[in-house]
Amino acid sequence: MTTASSNESPLKTALSQLRRAVDQLGLSENDWNTLSTPRRLMEVAVPLRRDDGHVEMYKGYRVQYSTTRGPAKGGIRFHQDIDLDETIALAMLMTWKCALTNLPYGGAKGGVAVDPKSLSLAENERLTRRYTSEILPIIGPERDIPGPDVGTDERNMAWIMDTYSVNAGYSVPGVVTGKPIVLGGSLGRTSATGDGVAISVREALKLRGIDPKKATVAIQGFGKVGYWAAVALEKQGLKVVAVSDVNGGVTGFKSVAEVKAHLDKTGSVVGTPGTSPLTNTELLHLEVDVLVPAALADSITEASAPGIQAKIVVEGANAPTTPQGDAIMNDKGILVVPDILANSGGVIVSYFEWVQDKQKYFWSAEEVIENLNEIMMRATKEVAEVSSSRGVTWREAANMISVERVAQAHRLRGLYP
Ligand code: NAD
Repeated sequence: MTTASSNESPLKTALSQLRRAVDQLGLSENDWNTLSTPRRLMEVAVPLRRDDGHVEMYKGYRVQYSTTRGPAKGGIRFHQDIDLDETIALAMLMTWKCALTNLPYGGAKGGVAVDPKSLSLAENERLTRRYTSEILPIIGPERDIPGPDVGTDERNMAWIMDTYSVNAGYSVPGVVTGKPIVLGGSLGRTSATGDGVAISVREALKLRGIDPKKATVAIQGFGKVGYWAAVALEKQGLKVVAVSDVNGGVTGFKSVAEVKAHLDKTGSVVGTPGTSPLTNTELLHLEVDVLVPAALADSITEASAPGIQAKIVVEGANAPTTPQGDAIMNDKGILVVPDILANSGGVIVSYFEWVQDKQKYFWSAEEVIENLNEIMMRATKEVAEVSSSRGVTWREAANMISVERVAQAHRLRGLYP
């Protein structure tokens, strides 16, 4: 499982889910044609002068899947395996995610096909700035607002903000979200996606009548999403029994903090003192109440789904489940909280950051978490209601709500000219 490395294409998966929503909603072929077509695709060459003086070329992408409900919005991924198809799929998912949570955005995604671990800090900065200058004509606080994703963080966002601002001639903090606080970032953004995952877990446990204080959880991926989800879930009283990263997993630790300390020291969760190792597949198959896939796409597949024993799966990652994996989990009666709901905390707090940047007025951490909670609870309630009234899964319900909102906005705006 890596970005786009499995034989399931994330774009095929995203389109098949869209087709199903279009059919379930009884939308027209015109609607299907409009909804299944990305608005703007940009592929750029990103030259990088390495520290030793030689020059390498990398491919960069920015996809604006939709701008119907507002400016495009979506992360920038630095990963060696990304390609245009996967970027389109992820930009489509962002479109539905923003519509589901009713944020005034379309959807976008971008990135550079590079392994960020192979770059020095100076190389990373040059690559980020050159990529930004290549996509500069199509981004901006009213056009398209990037944010962090796999392989990028607040440092990259600061360089993007600076590159854009230098070209504009004045500071434009609203061009990206996920910035450092001193540059106009929002309190609570760093942990937002993980906090949102924990809100989803809390609501799903309530629905299944499971006491969080007696519940166990396993988390695949211990990055920006997985780590903060682990912290928030531990605070809610759940027992985090296993976590993993690209190198493998561990179980038997006393607290999430112990694993984080080892990760900070060594670069991996594997080998945390006092723990037993397990593979990523073994982690997926643990007998736990909740499983949180928070790594990359296509983790829960036809091969891995049959062994899942969790009662609830909360998708921290984008597109972690293939259609076959999904069907198997549905047959087993597992409640699956889909990615566009479960990991929407990141884009919700990004929206708060953008609003704060526009107003030049900044909120307290309490206001951020309170508003995040409110938006996620509202979206969760809507999804649960459509799921029970239409007799569909939570994924289908979430897709139906969001696709209908985008289709309605298309219809109301009409076709120019
Ligand atoms: P990250 O780079 O911070 O962390 C990724 C984690 O997954 C790391 O622990 C890494 O070691 C692990 N990993 C990578 N390949 C793996 C593999 N093959 N098997 C097991 N673990 C593997 O990235 P992130 O920001 O935490 O993003 C994780 C997922 O969540 C992605 O799908 C991303 O698109 C999605 N997401 C992120 C955000 C956000 O705010 N960061 C918001 C919404 C969705």
